[in-house]
Amino acid sequence: MVNKSILVVGGGISGLTAAIEAAEVGFEVYIVEKNSYLGGKVTQINQYFPKLCPPNCGLEINFRRIRSNPNIRFFTMAEVEEITGQEGNFDVTVKLNPQYVNENCTACGKCAEVCPAERANDFNYGLDKTKAVHMAHQFAFPVKYVIDAKACEAGCSKCAEVCQYKAVELDMQPKTMKLNVGSVVWATGWKPYDAQKLSYYGFGRYPNVITNVIMERLAAANGPTGGKIVRPSDGKEIKSIAFIQCAGSRDENHLHCCSTVCCMATLKQTTYVREQYPDARICVYYIDIRSRGKHEDFFVKVQNETNITLIKGKAGEIMEDPATGNLTVMAEDQIAQQLTGEMFDMVVLATGMAPATAEQKIPAEISYDEDGFVASPQTAGVHAAGCVKKPLDVAASVQDATAAALKAIQSVRGQNNV
Ligand SMILES: Cc1cc2nc3c(=O)[nH]c(=O)nc-3n(C[C@H](O)[C@H](O)[C@H](O)COP(=O)(O)OP(=O)(O)OC[C@H]3O[C@@H](n4cnc5c(N)ncnc54)[C@H](O)[C@@H]3O)c2cc1C
Repeated sequence: MVNKSILVVGGGISGLTAAIEAAEVGFEVYIVEKNSYLGGKVTQINQYFPKLCPPNCGLEINFRRIRSNPNIRFFTMAEVEEITGQEGNFDVTVKLNPQYVNENCTACGKCAEVCPAERANDFNYGLDKTKAVHMAHQFAFPVKYVIDAKACEAGCSKCAEVCQYKAVELDMQPKTMKLNVGSVVWATGWKPYDAQKLSYYGFGRYPNVITNVIMERLAAANGPTGGKIVRPSDGKEIKSIAFIQCAGSRDENHLHCCSTVCCMATLKQTTYVREQYPDARICVYYIDIRSRGKHEDFFVKVQNETNITLIKGKAGEIMEDPATGNLTVMAEDQIAQQLTGEMFDMVVLATGMAPATAEQKIPAEISYDEDGFVASPQTAGVHAAGCVKKPLDVAASVQDATAAALKAIQSVRGQNNV
């Protein structure tokens, strides 16, 4: 017997696309997502290049397709523990972690008002705080609060007491669930490369050295500063800023690969700065700018902006003046053939995309490349999609996930007609 249902692991743009495409052809699909919300890293991006539109619009269209399709069931706070069996007939063990808030939640926010405990806000990379009971972010889907139990004060139950909908269940326990499916699409995506490993750039030591993903949150209206780009150390406005490309990418000591999106992400982020600070001095240190195809127009447009300098040369070191928090970037300008040392208010490291599978492998027979990206699944019926295979932008992730949906459909069709 071939089971015709499909499991999608990871509810980012790749997983959502694979799930929706397969479900809209008529297949039963389960999504397993470890966060309390769907959408993945795209939810943390301020604007999409090159059109500079807000990603939440595109996500909302996908959420609407999910809501209106009875073929899709999704589980948040969930992770796959084990996969046994073979193509057409996999038994999957899924762990459901407790959210401590049930389906009755109306997101009224009364629980957060009375909650006495705070935690670092991981959605904003720790730049601000939320209450222990919180919405993961403003546009979270499903719209439901979540409790970070590690942050709760012992014995406190104020959130449960104030909730008139009986939505808070402080005694919720982890559960295990079994699924039988014919095929698996693995789409667990990426994580920012750990910038602390680049000790010569001082991330973590110098507060005004940030990363590109943090810049997305600083520029976002629902971010820690309400969208105002300011220095983390003292909240000062920006008069000068440097972007350092390939921070840890294309480097045999760190990520071997090119993350493909960082050049476009930086060019986009210069427009965030330009919009808020038309007179700010912006400097981009690069090895080469990779803006392929139609993205070249965006590169040319940014290049022609005033006050933007592109310096061909890899930045070697950043030094901080402890009195002012200002940063000096040491680099070799390859075109002028000289060493430079320029001072800036703030520096953004364009750190690359490391695969989620570098830390958490797929519980199946799979080979990985030197950075941990899925090289080629050897288990028939298990297909990878999106940035878990290689760094991709959203358009390419969607294409790749659509192809993975087709592969999954072929797996579950087996010898039989659907
Ligand atoms: C600074 C920066 C800016 C960017 N800006 C743009 C842009 O403007 N335009 C553009 O097109 N692209 C941009 N990108 C690229 C974009 O972020 C990716 O293309 C996109 O996130 C890929 O989606 P994905 O679903 O493959 O991975 P992800 O977004 O990482 O989604 C993976 C999902 O899987 C979940 N997951 C992980 N592990 C597990 C597990 N074990 N079990 C269950 N679930 C799991 C995660 O929680 C997540 O929800 C940018 C990237 C960077 C670094």
